[in-house]
Order: sequence, then structure tokens, then C-alpha cells
Amino acid sequence: MGVHFGWTEKPFGSAERTAAEARPRAAFMRCLAERMGLPPGRFVWMDQVHGDRVRRVGGGSAGGILAATDGCVTTQPELVLCIRTADCLPILLFDARGRAVAAVHAGWRGLLAGILGKAVTSICRAARCGPKHIRAVIGPCIHVSCYEVGEEVRRSFAARHGSWTRRFFRKSGTRLKASLPGIAGAQLKTAGIPATHIRPSRHCTACDSSRYFSFRARSDRGRFASFIFISTP
Ligand SMILES: [Zn+2]
Repeated sequence: MGVHFGWTEKPFGSAERTAAEARPRAAFMRCLAERMGLPPGRFVWMDQVHGDRVRRVGGGSAGGILAATDGCVTTQPELVLCIRTADCLPILLFDARGRAVAAVHAGWRGLLAGILGKAVTSICRAARCGPKHIRAVIGPCIHVSCYEVGEEVRRSFAARHGSWTRRFFRKSGTRLKASLPGIAGAQLKTAGIPATHIRPSRHCTACDSSRYFSFRARSDRGRFASFIFISTP
């Protein structure tokens, strides 16, 4: 068994649901499934409401959309956990033995609500291991240089955990900026994942908006997909 994860790039199309369709675009799913060598009916999508709900899912969730959920965990092979983003953070977790995988969508609200800590607890329970055996990947998302926030966001984080305010920056005469991937990395470490097991986000969606959908840089309505699954031999 192995773990496979990744994300789509803009030319591949958008994973966003449209008003006319109850599910993510069928053509997008067919293409993605073809690349993976899996049927599109093995995908699990989430409603993504910027909350902190993490659900454990099994084969019965295949082909569905989880209501009011931002994180999911499974031990079921070939069940593809998917996230749709355009600037928010796609965070993928797996244990070293490939027993369990997790997909988490988080913007500042989800991080503030503590969804990552819940996701780590949930995947540890599913994989029956401690957090030091978990690996985390933060996919393309908006980076600090492009992410301006209001003072109220910093205040909200300060009220919850003082040290997270170190991830907010302001040069004189400029707007306040926040590093969401920095906060996510700090939270994953707080949850017990070793720093060497956390792969930071390499691409800023706003800087690289020809490659990734970016709501802030281009007001994109589309979303790219990040995914993770356990493969069978
Ligand atoms: Zn940028």
C-alpha cells in the first residue's frame, strides 16, 4: 500500500460546483479519475464551510459530498479525499505506514477554530499511531506577501494563542499581512507532528495565478483540487 497525493493546475479546469450542478463538474472528475486510474465514483468532496468539523469516512461516502465539513479522514484504500481551493490552504495528512489519510480545507477561520488539531487527533486514532508518525503537506495557497488582513483577524488569533501573532507582519505604511501557511505549520507542530515531517507550501496561488486559481489575485470563481488516497498494490 502507498499514499498518493497532489493537486491539479489551472489548465486542467475547475473543480468548483456550479449552480446548475449538485456535484463538482463531472468532466473535471472524469479527467482526474482517468489520470489516477480510479473510477470518479471513488471521490469524496466536502461542502467546506470554514468550520472545524472533521469526519471519518468509509466506502459508503464514495461519490458523495459531505455536508458542513472541512476535514475528512479514511483508512479505506482507493477512496480519494478531495479539497477545492483558490487561496485557502489544502492540507494533506498521512501516517508513515499508509494506514490512514486526511484532507483538510482551512482558511483563517478554520485555523482559528483549531481544525488542524482535530484532524491530527482523528488521523492518529484512525491509523492507531502517535502524531510523530504523521506527515503533513501544505499545498499551494496564498502566501504572506499577498495576504492582507484586517486588525480584527490578528486580534482573534491573539485572543486564542498569543504566539500565533508572530505570523502577522506589518512594514511601516503598509497593510497588515498574515502567513496562513506559517500558522498552519505552527499548529501542526503544536499537535505533535515533527517539523521535519511538515512539507511547507511551495507555491503562492496569488503570485502564480496563471497556474492556480486565486480568488484574491484574479477574483477567480474556479477552484483547483487537492487530493490524497491510499493505493492498493
Ligand atoms: Zn504571492
